[in-house]
This record gives sequence, C-alpha cells and structure tokens, in this order.
Amino acid sequence: MLVKGIVFYLESDLPSEAKFLLEDFRLAVNNAIRAGLQARVTSRNALVKIAYKDFRQEHPKMYSQHLVSAFEVAGSVLKNHRRRVRKDVTCRIPYVKRLIMKAENQAYKLDRKTGVIDLPIRAGCHVELRLVVSRYHRKYLDDTALSLGSLTVLPDRVIVAFRKDAPKPYTPDSVISLDTNERSLDGLFVEGDVAKAVKAEFPEVAVIQQRHHDRRKRLQKKKAHDRRTSRNLCRREGAREHHRIEYRLHQVANSVLKFAEERKSAIVLEDLTGMRPKRSKELNRRLSMWPRRKLHQIIEYKAQWKGVPVVKVDPRNSSRTCPICGRIQDSRMGTEFKCECGWRLDRHINASINLLQTAISKGMAGGLRFNPGAFQHDVMMILYEPAMAARSEPNGTSGIAVVT
Ligand SMILES: [Zn+2]
Repeated sequence: MLVKGIVFYLESDLPSEAKFLLEDFRLAVNNAIRAGLQARVTSRNALVKIAYKDFRQEHPKMYSQHLVSAFEVAGSVLKNHRRRVRKDVTCRIPYVKRLIMKAENQAYKLDRKTGVIDLPIRAGCHVELRLVVSRYHRKYLDDTALSLGSLTVLPDRVIVAFRKDAPKPYTPDSVISLDTNERSLDGLFVEGDVAKAVKAEFPEVAVIQQRHHDRRKRLQKKKAHDRRTSRNLCRREGAREHHRIEYRLHQVANSVLKFAEERKSAIVLEDLTGMRPKRSKELNRRLSMWPRRKLHQIIEYKAQWKGVPVVKVDPRNSSRTCPICGRIQDSRMGTEFKCECGWRLDRHINASINLLQTAISKGMAGGLRFNPGAFQHDVMMILYEPAMAARSEPNGTSGIAVVT
C-alpha cells in the first residue's frame, strides 16, 4: 500500500471547538508519552491497556477514536525516543510542543466533491472544515483508485493521506540508465538500436548546500558564546536548506519520470547505500551525499506510485571500467574516459553505460539489449535544466529538447 500526504489549506480559521480539541489531543499525547516511559512500553495497544481507563476519566468527552489515535502518536514518539537512546544520542524526555492531531480514517468524513471535512469533537458536536481545493487537489480527490487514510490537523492546514495499492510496473520498451553526480544526472537512453546521451542538471543544489554550509559556520562563530541560540539558528538554517534542495530535486525527479513514462522506460540507478564521500573536500561537508540519496528516494517513490520499473545496481568500478574491452583503470580523473582500446566518452555517461550493462547481465532490464557501438556521440537529450524551473508547470512539449 502506497500513501501520499496532500496538504490542504482551510478556507477560514479553525473553529474554536477544533482548537480546543487540538489542545486536548496534545495533552493526551503528552500524558500517554509519560505513562509509556514509566511503564517502558511503546506500542499503541500496550499504551491503551495501561492508560485508557485513566484517560477516559481525564477526557470524559473526547471522541474515543481520537483518544486511541493519541496513543498511536505517542507510540511513534516513544519509538523514536527509544531508537535515539539506543544509539546513545543525548536527548531529552520527549514532549510534543506543536499543536497537532491525527484522526484515523474512520474518525472523520471528507466529502470528496465539495472538499468539506466533518470532524467529530465529542458526542453531538461536529465541526466542518472547508478545504481550499485547487486543480492539483482535484486530481487526488477525483481519483477513485485512491482511498482516504488518516487526517492530520494543524492550526492552519490539514494533511489528508491518500492511499492506493502499488500498480504493477509495466514491461519496459526502453531504458534510461543514470549516473548520479553532485550537480547532475548523466546517462543514456536506449530504445531499440538507438542510444543517446541524456542529462538532468541541478547545479543549484550544490550552490545552496555550500551557501548554507558557510552560513552555518559563520553563525557558529558569531554565537560561540551562546550554544543554545547557535544550535537553534543552525537547526533552522538546516531545515531551510533541506526545503530548498528538496523542492529542486522533486522537479528533477518529475522530469525524469515524465520522460520515462512517455517512452515506457525502465530506470537504472546506482545503489548508493553504503557509499561514502571520497574526496577530503567532501568529507568536510557531512551532508554532501544527502541530496543524491534523497533524489533517488524521490525518484523511486514516484516511480512506484506511477508503476515505472526502477532497477538499482552495484556501482562498483562503474566509473573506471571500459564497456568495450572490460579493462579496469586505476584512476578516474578527468572529464573524459579514455581507454587503450580507443574508446573515449564523457566519464559520467561512460559510468552509466557500465550501470546499464550490469543491469542487463543480471537480467534486471527486462530482456532489453544494448550495444555500446550503437551510442550516438553527437546527440544529447536534456531531461531537466534549471531554466525549466521558471515555468510553474511543464508545457505541452513535455520539456524535452533534443540538442544536436
Ligand atoms: Zn577499452
């Protein structure tokens, strides 16, 4: 089952009854956290067992479904806490500060035509939440393949979880193999006997990362006398950096998937788990692998949602191997890969050929074949470039240009 959370803003302020409910819910969650810590339990059922009776007395009017879902939220907070304790990270006793509540799908009603949520507060008291519905939201509300999951209520917005069974990935007619780099995805697109280079560039991601990194360094120096403020400011910087980068990665992923969907391609990616930054400059920046992993996560998740097959392969030696004769070279410096046998190609695209050949040799590319000799050296297809971000929505030409 796949789940996607969609944010809706409200047409007007939250009714006061709902605000009180949020506060009650927070109270219940924090009490459940305390009870769970004392009894050393983290599962929802265990929490219900030890604390439900007392809670019922403390919150006599709260809708019982909400109460159970407070236990659920408390359980997940406790689980995170336990994980951190096990990892020996110093942490405080958990406490929920934000006003937030979660309602399971039986505990609210959403009219998908009008976009009105009926949220029960207590017996005989319901509130209506009118959602702002845009064209983007319509897509999810009208899609009958999607069922409703939980509802998360925040003071100014709600998040509705839409669920569906993962569609079966299609049988690919073509394949895109992509080598993931700091500033771009580089690779090739193979359809029949034709193989062309493809590129999706995101140079801003590294720039943003560097800029926020410098800013954090400066903050740390400036606030060296006040560690609490320094930590808070840095955390905020970090969150902003992640938002800005994720926004761009989503756009890159969308273009890649659109391209793949239109041509019924499978996507071949390198398996980045366990890969460490190699150069010393990168070691200074602990986050530098993060955008690449995040991009893969986003692509894989969106591909699952759309039924696009994704193949992950071991990238070992992919940047040092010659796809023609199989020689493995010692160094991988320079922008061009050159082999004694005469093969020459852009280093990143060469790596993507090796990824594809690994996928094919392991039978993971659905019977597709590829001959490096078929590679057209003079063609480059642009999947994505920063200039395309200026458009809020891709136009009818699907944003793919063939540059010859
Ligand atoms: Zn060679």
